Amino acid sequence: MLALGGDGIGPEILEQGLRVARHQARHAGIDLQVEHGLLHGASWDVHGSFCTHEVLQKARRSDALLVGAVGGPKWDNIGVPGGAECQDGLMYLRYHLQTYLGLRPSRARVPLMHRSPLRRDIVDGADVLILREMCGGAMFASERGQRQINGLRQGYDLTAYDEGEVTRFAHGGFQLAAQRRGRLVSCDKSNVMESYKLWRDVVSDVARDYPDVEFENMFADNCAYQLMMRPGDFDVVIGCNQLGDVLSDLTAVYAGSLGMLPSASLSANPDQGQVFGMYESTAGSAPDIVGQGIANPVGTILSVGMMFTYSFGLPRIEQRIEAAVDAVLTQGVMTPDLGGAANTVEMTDAILEMLEA
Ligand code: NAD
Ligand code: MN
Repeated sequence: MLALGGDGIGPEILEQGLRVARHQARHAGIDLQVEHGLLHGASWDVHGSFCTHEVLQKARRSDALLVGAVGGPKWDNIGVPGGAECQDGLMYLRYHLQTYLGLRPSRARVPLMHRSPLRRDIVDGADVLILREMCGGAMFASERGQRQINGLRQGYDLTAYDEGEVTRFAHGGFQLAAQRRGRLVSCDKSNVMESYKLWRDVVSDVARDYPDVEFENMFADNCAYQLMMRPGDFDVVIGCNQLGDVLSDLTAVYAGSLGMLPSASLSANPDQGQVFGMYESTAGSAPDIVGQGIANPVGTILSVGMMFTYSFGLPRIEQRIEAAVDAVLTQGVMTPDLGGAANTVEMTDAILEMLEA
């Protein structure tokens, strides 16, 4: 496994994720080898590149990647020429490793329901998997830039998806929905955009292979609204790179804090068995709380759980980590984003103690 701390709170939360990963590997009798590397700003400052070829090679040799978070004002707008993969270390890895299937689960946990701005009777039972396409769309536009049009500056990013990209991703979505509660919503803006017309056609075709999954197409704006109004009706929601990014932060509202959300980005569909994946908290590098030791490590720790399921084939370890997190929250051990006073290390200590019990 390769561990990349990145920037901001990234190294702080990565370290806690590694503690749990090592602990659970030891319990399962796995000889977990951990390599380290720099990513994004941390890499830029040393190598003048957001991700070196050496780190990519190490990633290719690994079964999984655990990432803290990347980014910060210092490295925004450096203006490296080329696509997103040249300007962002994480995007570079996603692109070269083709980790197209982004799983971003969010659910309401009983001890945290009072932290959600949604009324308890609405958020109770919310358990949604947002699936974000990670390797295409406007974010990876090959035609992009800024130009002068009629004396005005114009910025542009060509949104494009080919049917191969949408097909592999949609199959992943239906496979995961079949393992969950058997419902899938695909969101798009096919009412106004051509790339989404193709998206809707392709997903609807793939849906025919999964007659047992209840399937619906929804316009993304309405979908965002319905996700807040009646979260209990949703199971899996799939969307393009950009919509999936936004919707996954939105559904963090169920969990009470963005710091709670894990993610997995897989390079093959789950029907392929154990697959290579990148695992990281859904949130960013939180520059506003960096260095204070108060970042919530749970998103990263739950990402470690997902790593055991999807890359190591040990779902019972993810279940154990999930249960330990719930138990610790029930005891009232919480970081400040959850209204508590525990710091990053204390929160992890409590989870590790629970895993020992
Ligand atoms: P952010 O996700 O970093 O932070 C949003 C809010 O959530 C902040 O108030 C922050 O304090 C809080 N938060 C996030 N993680 C938390 C945690 N673990 N514990 C407690 N609170 C937490 O979003 P932003 O401020 O818009 O972006 C900051 C930087 O992160 C930018 O440079 C952005 O490009 C980058 N970013 C990186 C990733 C990634 O690494 N995957 C994702 C999103 C944004
Ligand atoms: Mn995001």
